[in-house]
Amino acid sequence: MSAPVRVLYLAGSGRSGSTLVTTLLGQYDGVLAAGELRYLWQRGELDNRPCGCGRPFRDCPVWSAVRRDVPVRDAAGIAARLRARLRMRGVPALLRRVRAGRRPVDQHPDDAVLTDLYASVARHAGATTVVDSSKLPPYGALLGALPGIDLRVLHVVRDPRATAFSWRRRRGLDGERDERLMSRPPVWKAALLWSVWNAVTVRLWAGDPDRYLRIRYEDLTADPAGVLARVTAFAGVDPQPGPFTGAGSDPDADPEAEPDPDAEADPGAVTVRMAPTHSVAGNPARHRTGPVPIRADDQWRAGLSRTSYAVVTALTLPWLRRFGYPSGRTDRTTTSGRRDTPVDTPTGHEEG
Ligand SMILES: [Zn+2]
Repeated sequence: MSAPVRVLYLAGSGRSGSTLVTTLLGQYDGVLAAGELRYLWQRGELDNRPCGCGRPFRDCPVWSAVRRDVPVRDAAGIAARLRARLRMRGVPALLRRVRAGRRPVDQHPDDAVLTDLYASVARHAGATTVVDSSKLPPYGALLGALPGIDLRVLHVVRDPRATAFSWRRRRGLDGERDERLMSRPPVWKAALLWSVWNAVTVRLWAGDPDRYLRIRYEDLTADPAGVLARVTAFAGVDPQPGPFTGAGSDPDADPEAEPDPDAEADPGAVTVRMAPTHSVAGNPARHRTGPVPIRADDQWRAGLSRTSYAVVTALTLPWLRRFGYPSGRTDRTTTSGRRDTPVDTPTGHEEG
């Protein structure tokens, strides 16, 4: 049997910046930013939605090679069975099983396909680390129990008031012109989901510092190089050259790439170079390439109503404190000295 594939699993709640983290990690040598592989069966195999490289899933060279390796006859069945095995109402039982030292999710013949999938993806991308931004903790628990997978968990946390606001914005699944909108739960539901998924992530993995690292979106946007240095060290990824070298002055830069107007509007932002990734089923922001300025999306500070702010704060209070977020409304972040006025950000890379 070949060596296990290292999977860096981005866990936590939706709209926490995992798309930005995934795309950034995809810029390092030996890393494949594979995107939300839990949704590969539906959105890739069945719907043939665009890969991060811009091609339809079945036309992407990486995924075409993987599909030849791991032929799938029943993508709809796999998608449905994964949904059934990983339902939210099964989470208490899953936690009980983990506490009792048992396998978190019952074995199933589909698991062999998953093992083959990750091995094939790593092989065809020449990667030692596959970044999976599926986020849902039960799926990460299922992966961690598979024999061919060496799981590391990167827990990405964002202020729940920001995630609740982000959930309310209209956004097409594959970009502005896409009519299929990402789901828009009410703020109370977004707050509960934030609490549940973050709490489950902590319960499942935080006790093992060799396999678990937590970062905050706000720290990442304040100090991208510093936070990514921690993440690459944790994941065993070579930190050089990475996305920070040659940003804006790279002689190999795509001559077609337009200079980013946002970079000029915000000279304080760190600019990174984003090459296309082969990520499936993520936020539309994953298609963004070229020089990209990194900075916090703070629209929620002006856009979230007082009532919504109070509701989300009340529903998330214990975890809010644990992750170091203020309960009161502030005009400054606690993480950086950068200005914190609401700015219009068309980048959309806050989500994921
Ligand atoms: Zn691709």
